[in-house]
Amino acid sequence: MRLKFQNCDLFDGVTDELARGVHVLVADGKIVEVSETAISAAADMEIDATGKTLMPGLIDAHVHITAATPNLAALEAMPVSYVSHWTARLLGEMLDRGFTTVRDVGGGDAGHKRAQKEGLIRGPRLSVSGKALGQTGGHTDFRGSSRTDLGDLQRRHTAGLGRIVDGVPACLAAARDELRLGADFVKIMANGGVATPTDPIDWIQFTPEEIQAIVAVAETSCTYVAAHTYTARAIEHAAVNGVRTLEHCNLIDDRVAGILKDLGRYAVPTLVIYDCLDRHADAIGLGPDNRVKNRKVRDAGLASLEILQRAGVPMGYGTDLLGWMHQDQSVEFGLRTQVLPAADVLRSATSVNAEILRRDDLGRVAPGMTADLILVDGDPLADISVLSGQGERIPLVVQEGKVVKARA
Ligand code: ZN
Ligand code: ZN
Repeated sequence: MRLKFQNCDLFDGVTDELARGVHVLVADGKIVEVSETAISAAADMEIDATGKTLMPGLIDAHVHITAATPNLAALEAMPVSYVSHWTARLLGEMLDRGFTTVRDVGGGDAGHKRAQKEGLIRGPRLSVSGKALGQTGGHTDFRGSSRTDLGDLQRRHTAGLGRIVDGVPACLAAARDELRLGADFVKIMANGGVATPTDPIDWIQFTPEEIQAIVAVAETSCTYVAAHTYTARAIEHAAVNGVRTLEHCNLIDDRVAGILKDLGRYAVPTLVIYDCLDRHADAIGLGPDNRVKNRKVRDAGLASLEILQRAGVPMGYGTDLLGWMHQDQSVEFGLRTQVLPAADVLRSATSVNAEILRRDDLGRVAPGMTADLILVDGDPLADISVLSGQGERIPLVVQEGKVVKARA
């Protein structure tokens, strides 16, 4: 299959400005030519892209594709077979919004990845962590203070996003187990969470020895660790013990941002989930304590972007949405442009996220790259809202050289 885009404006995933009047040829899943003059080679499909912007397919580096409901305690009790139908729906809708790759940081596994790759389900290409690892009473422990049994929570037989592990030997075994089952990287919970009942936000989770053990397993298996962290103290704890990608980072400060920069770490802010939880607190049934926790991290979100930007820490694009909230996946673009230049926000969702996923063939439009492309009505650098909604202004989505969404 050969595709030819004629006369488009191009955001290549890196450059600050659009290139005007560009021609792009795609063949056998790759971008083969990007030219300022018309391309003479024949193609199976020729697209007149006048007045439209061609850009790399979007990447979301923080999703939970098995989060069928915002109520994560209820999720654990759902049949896995039922949840997988939700996953198929959520993935199809992400693709329609222009996301051609997503990184699942708790819940998504090698089975989902295989189903997408084989075309059983429509959706973004997946990078998955399997179950997230968390300690007793941590951000994978939804039992609350009245339940004492562990049930299946140390194993991985529930539809929940994580499993409970304590102590260095158990951490080593669980990290190895997730990698055995096909995880692309390991996710840990290193800080209190909004949705969990017994872990305040200022509590750090896991000891240095436990984190170092998990990082050692990941690195010996040629991969890395991502950690759920909000506070400066938790971010520092995770980063100095070897964690490569720091998720959320809402309560970071300048000193710890400097440490991330020095250590070459990545931050993946996820502002929209806190905005969404606050707007829909009643509908979700968020308890009073959880509301207070949520508002604390939400209010700090925009300031955290400015702190990370000042320190020069590379920032990925993440969303962290749950259940029906996934419809707000592209609201994150608008939130970020309140404090960051649009070009930086677009790089986050393209070339920076490709780096985070260690996929040097994604996130850019250049010869030799994998042909994940979207066509956008208008100029996203001038008006990022063209990416918002459910992909209404994204008439064409191409994944590995194949048209996967086309507006008539
Ligand atoms: Zn998290
Ligand atoms: Zn998350």
